[in-house]
Amino acid sequence: MKPFEYVSVTSARQASEALGTERGPAKVLAGGTDLLGEMKDYIETPSRLVNIKTIPNLDKIEYDAKTGLRLGALVTLARISEDKNIRQRYPVLVQSIDLSAMPQIRNAATIAGNLCQRPRCWYYRDEHTICLKKGGAKCYAVEGENQYHAILGGGPCYIVHPSDPAPALVALGARVVIEGNGKTREVPLEEFFILPRQDVRRENILAQNEVITHVLVPPPAPGTRSVYLKERERESYDWALSSAAVVLTPSGGNVGTARIVLGGVAPVPWRAVDAEKALQGQPLNATTVARAAEAALAGASPLHKNGYKVPLAQAVVRRALTLTMA
Ligand SMILES: Cc1cc2nc3c(=O)[nH]c(=O)nc-3n(C[C@H](O)[C@H](O)[C@H](O)COP(=O)(O)OP(=O)(O)OC[C@H]3O[C@@H](n4cnc5c(N)ncnc54)[C@H](O)[C@@H]3O)c2cc1C
Ligand code: SF4
Repeated sequence: MKPFEYVSVTSARQASEALGTERGPAKVLAGGTDLLGEMKDYIETPSRLVNIKTIPNLDKIEYDAKTGLRLGALVTLARISEDKNIRQRYPVLVQSIDLSAMPQIRNAATIAGNLCQRPRCWYYRDEHTICLKKGGAKCYAVEGENQYHAILGGGPCYIVHPSDPAPALVALGARVVIEGNGKTREVPLEEFFILPRQDVRRENILAQNEVITHVLVPPPAPGTRSVYLKERERESYDWALSSAAVVLTPSGGNVGTARIVLGGVAPVPWRAVDAEKALQGQPLNATTVARAAEAALAGASPLHKNGYKVPLAQAVVRRALTLTMA
C-alpha cells in the first residue's frame, strides 16, 4: 500500500477542507470495507485519508412520523437491519441489507459508504488493467468477459452499480444530504447517481470536497407494500446478477403508485419507469405483473455474454411483484 497521511475530523466542514478540491489525492474513509481493499490493490492511491468516523452524531437513526427516517452517514448496515422501527416500516430496505455481503462486512460498512462504493468490474479491480474508468483508452468488457456487466444504460463503460440498498432507497424515494464547500444541498438519491456517458470516471455527483452527511427516507404511505429480491451466483454472499426493489401503494383495490428499481443490470439503480406506468391504476394479477416485467426490460441491450440477464431480470421483477400480493 502506498504511504498516506491520516487525518481525523470532527465536522463535515473540516472534512471538506481536508479533502481539498483537487480530484484524487484525498479520500473519505468511513468503514473502510471497500476503500482499504482498493488501496491494498493499488486501484486507489490517495496521499491523504480523511477519517469521518470521528464526526459526532453521524451515527444516529432518527424517525419522525411526519418527516420519516433520518439516517446518519455513519450508521452501519447491521444497525439498520436490527432497528425494529425500520424493519416494520421499510421492509424493502431491510431485505436489501440482509442480502448484502456478510455479517462481518455489514457490522463495519456504513450506509453512505455503501452508496459510494466503487464498481466490482474485474477489469477495474485488476491493478494492471487501465481501462476507461481509470483513465485508459478502452473498455475491456466490451469484447471481453462481460457476463456480469450492464444490459441497460451502458456505454462507454458497462459497470453495474454494486449496492443493494441503493435500489431499495431509490424505490422508497430517499434523498441524500451533502455538505461541502461551506454549503449543504439535498438531492433525490435517484439524481445522485450518474451514467458513464455523463462522466466515465465517476458514479455519482459528489464533488471532491463534498461528503454525504445523511440519508432521508419519507414516511411510507398507508398500505405500502415493498419487497427486495436478488439473484446471485453464490448463495453465501455475492453481488447481484439481477435484483429488484418494488414499492407499491394501493388505491381502491388497484395499484396507486408503483416504484420499481432494478439492481445488477445497469451502471446506476435503474428505475423501470415503463413497468411502473404499466401497473398504475391496474389490478395486480398474473397478467399485469407479466406485462410490467416485460416492460421493465424492453430497452435492454445485452453484450455478447450477458443475454441471460434479460429473462433473469424479468423473472426477478415478476417474483418481486407477486410477493407484494402475498
Ligand atoms: C466481500 C464483500 C462482499 C460485499 N457484498 C456486497 C453486497 O452483496 N451488496 C452490497 O451492497 N455491497 C456489498 N459489499 C460492499 C460493502 O457493502 C461496501 O464495501 C460498504 O458498504 C462500504 O461502506 P464503508 O463504510 O466500508 O465505506 P468505505 O470503504 O470507507 O468507503 C467506500 C467509498 O465511499 C466513500 N465514502 C464513504 N463514506 C462517505 C461519505 N459519507 N461521503 C462521501 N463519500 C464517502 C469513500 O471515499 C470510498 O470511496 C461487499 C463488500 C465486500 C468486501
Ligand atoms: S466496464 Fe467500465 S470499469 Fe469495466 S473495463 Fe469497461 S470501462 Fe473499465
